[in-house]
Amino acid sequence: MNQISLMDYDEALERFDPVIGLEVHVELNTASKMFCACATTFGAQANTQTCPVCLGLPGSLPVVNGQAIEAAIRIGLSLNCQIASRCCFARKNYFYPDMTKNFQTSQHDQPICFDGSVEVEVDGQVFTVPIERAHMEEDAGKSLHIGGTTGRIQGADYSLEDYNRAGVPLIEIVTRPVMGTGAAAPAVARAYVTYIRDVVRALGVSDVRMEQGSLRCDANVSLSPKGSTVLGTRTETKNVNSLRSIERALRFEICRQAAILDGGGRIKQETRHWHEEGEYTSPGRSKEQAEDYRYFPEPDLVTVAPSPTWVEQLRVSVPPSPTARRRTLRQAWGLSEAAMNDLIALDAVELVAATVEAGADPAAARKWWTGELARLANLAGLPLDHLAITADQVAQVQALIDQGQLSDKLARAVIGAVVAGEGEPEEVVAAHGWALVSDQGALQQAVDQVIAADPDTAEAIRAGRTQAIGALIGAVMRLTKGQADAATVRQLLIERLA
Ligand SMILES: [Zn+2]
Repeated sequence: MNQISLMDYDEALERFDPVIGLEVHVELNTASKMFCACATTFGAQANTQTCPVCLGLPGSLPVVNGQAIEAAIRIGLSLNCQIASRCCFARKNYFYPDMTKNFQTSQHDQPICFDGSVEVEVDGQVFTVPIERAHMEEDAGKSLHIGGTTGRIQGADYSLEDYNRAGVPLIEIVTRPVMGTGAAAPAVARAYVTYIRDVVRALGVSDVRMEQGSLRCDANVSLSPKGSTVLGTRTETKNVNSLRSIERALRFEICRQAAILDGGGRIKQETRHWHEEGEYTSPGRSKEQAEDYRYFPEPDLVTVAPSPTWVEQLRVSVPPSPTARRRTLRQAWGLSEAAMNDLIALDAVELVAATVEAGADPAAARKWWTGELARLANLAGLPLDHLAITADQVAQVQALIDQGQLSDKLARAVIGAVVAGEGEPEEVVAAHGWALVSDQGALQQAVDQVIAADPDTAEAIRAGRTQAIGALIGAVMRLTKGQADAATVRQLLIERLA
């Protein structure tokens, strides 16, 4: 990593225009695979979800999964794509141990969705991302390299193959070159992948979990000298597995390429790998020669010809775009643009929406996710939606506050305990005995005890030094281990000392 020289980002952007391109793979959550009836459950025991079709045994015949086609069309419609009236599958021929058929069933010159575009917003500025195509294909199996220290094939003693994932339906969404984004290029890439994730999640057709590989992104970038229209040589950074990494990997590549071009060097067209820990890319496969996959139409599958009526029916079921949804939510919650942008930056919009849906007040829901929960996520180095707490649970804690059973301070402790895996909010409250003392008799007793223990202060308050009441409130709070409502305690003390 040390030998990679980098140009300062701002300087790179003064000298060059970045052009980005994104390939996003979405693994669909259909119950069965793309061309056979095998189950697709994530994490099942190796090779228990296989059959002659997805193992590529001779003589087996694939059948297209109708649910996958429906999902592909709905994704395409959400990305403002045209839907092909006829399209076919093609064989993409190559050898790799995780693909027993020696070809991947994909689409080539006839993708099911094409010519789309979406608008994404970065810091209030709108950028259009043109989409070339979204096509259907199948996933490969998974190689596990055993022995060695890195989990990679280098240094491994042997490799095992798990074909459970072979044949799981994928949608590959490919942009056209995205130009004119300037210094915002990495942020636009992140906003675009976030947009795809939100669209696909709203459609309910994938779990879109980057860390489980159900949403994967390859990010391309090239640099042109400022003002030039000639495209530079691009590199492709593979399988960047978090939203944050997309932005960082592209920033890194821009700085790296700028330094090479500045030194009179030439960018090698290649695949690169992003290293999350060291935050750098390293070269993978060289792509100097275009790979020849010898595509040809898949003879075992019929042409897919979705009827216009069906497509129009599906169009009606497409949810509003993330941009439109945010506008609606912002109005419903009465937020300023800036406050909404904060939620977007934290990736908290849908979490707040779900918490409101579970019954919390929008202001309270927003306070939890941008305050205590953002702090806990930050401490753990996790994205907000990876915290072990659901929107329902946050709403339950807020309900306990609203009912006067928890103070803000106790509620934060409950939230912390739920995140730490101690159970549902009510269980946590019961287990720790954290509920506020709402029993007036018990509180009255504590108040009397405190007055008896400190007759001087009590006398001073009776004599008109009302500011001294703070000391007695503090004493009651200590006596009740912080589980009394301070306002109630003050009221009881005033009544007693009147
Ligand atoms: Zn199968």
